[in-house]
Formats: sequence, structure tokens, C-alpha cells
Amino acid sequence: MTGKIQKTDAEWKAVLAEKGAERGAFEVTRHAATERPFTGKFESVWDDGSYHCVCCGNELFDASTKFDAGCGWPSFSLAVPGAITDIVDRSHGMTRTETVCSQCGAHLGHVFPDGPTDTGLRYCMNSASLDFKTK
Ligand SMILES: [Zn+2]
Repeated sequence: MTGKIQKTDAEWKAVLAEKGAERGAFEVTRHAATERPFTGKFESVWDDGSYHCVCCGNELFDASTKFDAGCGWPSFSLAVPGAITDIVDRSHGMTRTETVCSQCGAHLGHVFPDGPTDTGLRYCMNSASLDFKTK
């Protein structure tokens, strides 16, 4: 478990229910599940604003860094500095970089070094781990 905010499973479930989080948000954020592509509510949202951790509200991405990677998950080229912690993930026979919320340890998705923009990064996020705030 990483992060400064620690809660039990029951407490996180209550937080997510109260926020009206997507179905599956608990499994994604607390047990590193992956939602099915093209099912998340933020996959095709292009409004101005910011994306936050659905668990603790930590600001993760500015909407201006979101791009369409065509993979069915919300994708970003740049994270808010310090908002996300990278962890090497060797599950499923692959070496990938898992991303978790620096504040509460919520699983967000993975980051890949094949992004199409200047940063070269592609943050492939689960929509269910995100909350959106308009500017
Ligand atoms: Zn968080």
C-alpha cells in the first residue's frame, strides 16, 4: 500500500458510492482491475477542466494533456507534477509501469513510453479511477 491516505475497503466503498463513481471503480482503484475499453464515461470527453483521483480528489491531469490514443481508455501526455507515483509492474508476463495516486495509492492505470506528443508519454488511465471538474 502506498500513499498517505489510508482507508479500509469498506471506507473506500462508502467514499466511492457517495461520489457516484462508475461501477467497477472500487475494483479498479483498490485492486488494480482494468475496466473494459470504450466503456468509461471519460473516454470521449474533451471538455476543458481537470481530472482528479476519484478516491481522494488529488488533481492528476489537466484536460489539455488528454489525447485520443484510440485504445478505448482516457489517455494523457503529462501528469500534474508529483500527483502520480510510478511502480514497476511485472504481472501478466509483461514489464509495465503502473501508476498510482501519490496521495492515496489508488491504482489509476499504466504509463507507456510511446506517446505521440513532446513528452513521449502515454498515460493510459481507467476512466473509473478519474473524476472530472470543469474549469
Ligand atoms: Zn487518490
